[in-house]
Amino acid sequence: MKFYSTNNVSHISDLKSAVLNGLAPDKGLYMPEVIPELSQDFWGRLPDLSLGEIGFEVLKPYFCPDIPEAKFKTLTAEAFNFPIPLKKVSDNISVLELFHGPTLAFKDIGARFLARVMAQFTEGLDKTINVLVATSGDTGSAVANGFLGVEGVKVFVLYPKGLVSEVQEKQFTTLGQNITAIEVDGTFDDCQALVKTAFMDEALREQLILTSANSINLARFLPQMVYYFYAYAQAVKKGIKEISISVPSGNFGNLTAGLIAQQMGLPVKQFIAATNINDIVPKYLESGIYTPAPSIATPANAMDVGDPSNFVRIRELFKENIVDIRSYIKGFTCENETIFKTIESVYEQFNYELDPHGAIAYHSLAQLLIGNEHGVFLATAHPAKFPETVEKLIGKEIEQPDRLKEFMKGEKRVESSTNNYESFKSLLTN
Ligand SMILES: *Cc1c(COP(=O)(O)O)cnc(C)c1O
Repeated sequence: MKFYSTNNVSHISDLKSAVLNGLAPDKGLYMPEVIPELSQDFWGRLPDLSLGEIGFEVLKPYFCPDIPEAKFKTLTAEAFNFPIPLKKVSDNISVLELFHGPTLAFKDIGARFLARVMAQFTEGLDKTINVLVATSGDTGSAVANGFLGVEGVKVFVLYPKGLVSEVQEKQFTTLGQNITAIEVDGTFDDCQALVKTAFMDEALREQLILTSANSINLARFLPQMVYYFYAYAQAVKKGIKEISISVPSGNFGNLTAGLIAQQMGLPVKQFIAATNINDIVPKYLESGIYTPAPSIATPANAMDVGDPSNFVRIRELFKENIVDIRSYIKGFTCENETIFKTIESVYEQFNYELDPHGAIAYHSLAQLLIGNEHGVFLATAHPAKFPETVEKLIGKEIEQPDRLKEFMKGEKRVESSTNNYESFKSLLTN
């Protein structure tokens, strides 16, 4: 498969350079040249396939033979190695729990796959690949854990000193091996600026191979298709034939993956783009005008995005046709107060513990379902990652999963940097 840039259809790239560069040279995002339909035979076998097997079959047209099939089979089995259960919450609403991976967040899925794809491309190189990631909390932990122990790749996680929660910090500062955490005396924006400066430093790039791991990378968002197929497979087994799916959205990588799955043939009645008050996309769906804005802090902070990076991919999928876009995607926005009320009432009525992101997806779905349709919402983070918000609303302590307890026991090891570029660069080159 070849990939083109959203800024220029005639800029074509192969898989390897699209993955290693992340962004096209014209700053566009890479899109697959074709979206293949899955065979009749695949749909017949789908209900009996494991998550890893679904991953292999669905992603093979994009990643093979650039990655040899036999290797790709092992890769998908290793990347998708944790459960993603579909559970009933009420009569007509089920939840797809995407938070049973190493850092209890759905970003684990994309990060684990991306790490293994990059490792394929380092074979035969005499240099290591250096992944730079600036984080305000969750991305750093998913990327660090996804790449942990992957040969030929080193990860540098930059984070603002004293500004991430203890749980988040433990998840990327205690790992060791090929992961280096750098505590920056500054803000998240300073961390991002240091990474950007490094990418533009030609002298440094002659010395080191640098790359990024955010959701503009096609090897991070495409693997997210896998759980949409898996959700459908589980629904079919329960006798549900058609579903609407609510996606709690920030940069819209998750929803983009769902839409591509649909174009490959997945029967989805309706997608719901659920947002917090950073409601750029719901507003676009209403007015047809895309107006980015500075992001506003909310209790669902992984969705605090004022200019969603993947939205350009959605417009490209529908060739900018707003009528089409509206027929596949409904928007819904939740105020902060709604997030709190939803966590409270869903626990009270159904004994189900939501995190703030999942609460937005649930509420938006409950509002938009019609008649006796069946709806699925994506739960993107474990509620134990947000104890300050959730515990007082449900009136009890949330049990910490063992994995989180293990992280908390680990010893923090970090390098320190000022927000001065030379200080950061010397850490990279030593
Ligand atoms: C990143 C994230 C989101 C938003 O996903 P996008 O693909 O950026 O839309 C939602 N919930 C959680 C918990 C996240 O970490």
